[in-house]
Amino acid sequence: MTPLFAKDQENDWFLPEDVRKQLTTTFKDLKNPVTLEVFTKPGVNDEFSKYMVSFCTDLARLTDKIVVKGFEIPSARADELGVTASPTLCINPDDYHIRFLGAPLGEEGKAFITSIMLVSLGMHGLSDMSVPILDTLEEERLAQVFVSPTCPYCPGQTMHAIKCAIAKPGLVKAECIEMNENPELTDFYGVGSVPHTIFNDKKHDALGLMPEERFVVELVYLKDAEELLAEGSLPGMEGKKTPSQYGTIDPGEVDLVIIGAGPAGLTAGIYAVRAGLKAVVLEKNIVGGQVALTPVVENYPGFATVPGKQLMDIMSEHAREYVPVHEGEGVDSIEMGDLEAGELITVNTNRGTYNTKAIVLTTGAAYRQLGAPGETRYFGRGINYCASCDGYLYKGKSVAIIGGGNTALTDALHLKNLGVSVTIIHRRDEFRAQKPLQDSVEHEQIPILWNTVVEEIQGDERRVNNLRLRNVKDGSMTDLPVDGAFVAIGQVAATDLAKQLGVAIKEDGFVEVDTTMRTNVPRVYAAGDLTGGLQQIVTAIGEGSIAAMSAFEDISHPYWKE
Ligand code: NAP
Repeated sequence: MTPLFAKDQENDWFLPEDVRKQLTTTFKDLKNPVTLEVFTKPGVNDEFSKYMVSFCTDLARLTDKIVVKGFEIPSARADELGVTASPTLCINPDDYHIRFLGAPLGEEGKAFITSIMLVSLGMHGLSDMSVPILDTLEEERLAQVFVSPTCPYCPGQTMHAIKCAIAKPGLVKAECIEMNENPELTDFYGVGSVPHTIFNDKKHDALGLMPEERFVVELVYLKDAEELLAEGSLPGMEGKKTPSQYGTIDPGEVDLVIIGAGPAGLTAGIYAVRAGLKAVVLEKNIVGGQVALTPVVENYPGFATVPGKQLMDIMSEHAREYVPVHEGEGVDSIEMGDLEAGELITVNTNRGTYNTKAIVLTTGAAYRQLGAPGETRYFGRGINYCASCDGYLYKGKSVAIIGGGNTALTDALHLKNLGVSVTIIHRRDEFRAQKPLQDSVEHEQIPILWNTVVEEIQGDERRVNNLRLRNVKDGSMTDLPVDGAFVAIGQVAATDLAKQLGVAIKEDGFVEVDTTMRTNVPRVYAAGDLTGGLQQIVTAIGEGSIAAMSAFEDISHPYWKE
């Protein structure tokens, strides 16, 4: 065993003081001791091994409830646990199979601390709906979640796996694999986008962050949850499909349900509660919307430059002081009720049912797809949409960024900064992105292929390796060999719920609202990217506040009764 706590480290902290203070407070709630076993192999990922050792050593110095042990690879203990990747961190390995392969950097740091807390408290933290599904599991499962340090979706998916490993210690193994430090595993499993979850050595795999209940279903049945639901009720779960049968989470009667926790939804929540309404914000994924995926924001007043995720963390912390924000709670259906009879609106989610007087839709927008042949086939295998999430995969490699707006140029600069060789492909001969971004792209000497469109995305059976390009001026065709491509050609409004409710949609596909953010359907308001227009954080915030105040006014003085 390697000694991890050197005496001369006594005053030489690795973690900054503010983080140590915060952790000291968090660790006051620790109950049972937690053992962290760190495995390293000199000469392999030394920089990251040092990070992991220093991080864990600091934690053990903050509380006597955490014990750190160090081992080399190979060693008797590494062989006993089957640890080969350096560095690897195991949490209470005699009780659970919870492992971090690679240092828990960036976003994963949060998942690591949450795991320590859950293990110490002996809690799994799964929802009432997930538990009975997981209880049907009888065979062993291994969930390997591939992550990157800047991916805001990754800790959520990692925690799904770890919670299941805590709930079913003998059956479920959870591994969080940092792809940059584990290139061979990343390559072996063909990971090209994160989070990417491999179940039981490729028996099943899933891209992206899933709602917890869906993760549990796919872990148990090693099959796509949509397919299972389409086939009827889940095996062993017959008759238990209705959310209400699992109990509900903080449901009941509210004044306002806000759907979507980006800047518009969070702001609507703050304004609604400050106006005296009982409100709830429901978010099927994680808070932050598209901004959480933006590497850097430079036009939000008060912050000269701020990572999008950090800005949204600050905003959501503020919002949560007022309004409950339920992450992972997606809306399944909405029944409007009889307006004339004064019936409430019913909002059915994957966790419960809300009866509400009004709704604000802030469901935002999703990436627009290029539509070129090969795009769907190679999604997650060279074709990406989120530079924050997947940029790390391409360090030292060549990628193309397709688009000429703010997203394309922000992503190009972010990737260049990560050490990726970038070429921008744009269909016209000028960008629509803001001038400072254009200046930065010029300054960084990022090559640009003007007047060029992607005709086909080509590759072998595993990955993208070439883009077939057409010059729109002279029709000439060329090839651009690449390791990957990021598509950044704008957004498509997420209008599914709006359409279900009969809300009017404009010709450009965005929801139609008046200046008070009312839609054509009484009691339904919309704000943010969903309504189109300028699509800036500041406009989303403005619209969110107006929508909440209009809902407040209309609840007290319904215009439809006048
Ligand atoms: P965008 O502004 O709509 O730009 C989309 C780009 O993709 C345009 O250059 C467009 O070309 C091109 N494009 C569209 N369809 C295409 C197709 N089928 N094939 C090839 N190219 C295509 O989208 P965005 O950059 O994602 O930005 C969305 C919104 O978010 C905007 O309001 C933007 O200002 C905002 N945003 C702001 C920031 C920031 O301020 N820091 C950062 C990111 C995003 P054309 O120019 O020829 O139409």
